[in-house]
Amino acid sequence: MSDDCLFCNIVAGEIPCRKVAETDTLFAFADINPQAPTHILIVPKKHIESNLDLSPMDAGLIGEAYLLANRIAKETGIDKTGFRVVTNTGRNSGQMVMHLHLHLLGGRPMNWPPG
Ligand code: AMP
Ligand code: ZN
Repeated sequence: MSDDCLFCNIVAGEIPCRKVAETDTLFAFADINPQAPTHILIVPKKHIESNLDLSPMDAGLIGEAYLLANRIAKETGIDKTGFRVVTNTGRNSGQMVMHLHLHLLGGRPMNWPPG
């Protein structure tokens, strides 16, 4: 836990959120500023700053995060129409919160390439 990290504080229950799912290692909640009808954030409970800070020991954790994205996609119905899983990393990507997170986005058609 990093005391000054927004998502660590959400995982710890110090900052409110709309919780969607929880496992031993992961926490999922609604994005406060949704960019699609379904916009869920999936974060590891432990503080990892970004994709670049993953170690080989986190390989299982990332697999579990993608499986949880599938579970939530099925629960919300966006598996029927398709969805996008996005991890912004670093300045050019627009990463704002320095605690690794997967965006799960769905419920509307999306463009490619992204802006
Ligand atoms: P990123 O730009 O990839 O770092 O994404 C950070 C995401 O966190 C943005 O989509 C924000 O809308 C979202 N966000 C920021 N503060 C909160 C909060 N308190 N609860 C839920 N989502 C948040
Ligand atoms: Zn954190």
